[in-house]
Amino acid sequence: MINRFYDSEGCPICCPFCCSKKIDDSIQSIDGGVISEIQYNCSRCKDIIGYWAYGYYDPYFKKQFDCTIFSMRYWKLFFIRLEFHIWRKHQCLKKLTKSPEELYEEKSNRNESR
Ligand SMILES: [Zn+2]
Repeated sequence: MINRFYDSEGCPICCPFCCSKKIDDSIQSIDGGVISEIQYNCSRCKDIIGYWAYGYYDPYFKKQFDCTIFSMRYWKLFFIRLEFHIWRKHQCLKKLTKSPEELYEEKSNRNESR
């Protein structure tokens, strides 16, 4: 989980604006018979709260440029996206920085718990 609005994939759990858990999805684009883009809207305030394209979620999306930088909405989404990208980078780094010893230890711990 990135924060209380988005899970670890970036899929919206609840609306960051009104906290509603009712989310509508709508297909935006189909590529060769396969769904390639899905947009997630809050069903209460109708705001776009998520976007999925080609296998990945991004809590921040095209709609960003529709709102002015002076609006609260812009900055709220800006920080959600920042948080998401930092989180994702952190996950990648964690995987890369594991030493063979650490990996071995993890493996033996797993065997012990069985
Ligand atoms: Zn909402």
